[in-house]
Amino acid sequence: MWSNWHLQREFNNMNRKFFDNRLPRVRVRFGYIRPECGTSFMGFCLPDRIMLAPFLKKSGKCALMVLLHEMAHLSVPDSQNHGRKWVREMHRLHDAGAFNSILYGA
Ligand SMILES: [Zn+2]
Repeated sequence: MWSNWHLQREFNNMNRKFFDNRLPRVRVRFGYIRPECGTSFMGFCLPDRIMLAPFLKKSGKCALMVLLHEMAHLSVPDSQNHGRKWVREMHRLHDAGAFNSILYGA
């Protein structure tokens, strides 16, 4: 079972590995997702925090995938939706090995 501590640690790790530590050090935690706050029922991202749905505590890999998705929003700040800039950022993360790292610990 994952905790807020795990999420914060993985945010810091992925920020270092895949974003050159350039993302702001936002607070990351599990919490209930209010529909008006985000584009997804699994997570949302605000300038000062990332929230993930509590059911993701049961799977670290799923939690990390959603966390990475939200970090890509943080990385491209004007992309609240999944437009071209955000998609390009996700491709960059793929090419940098971020998804393999989550799935296979590479
Ligand atoms: Zn999104």
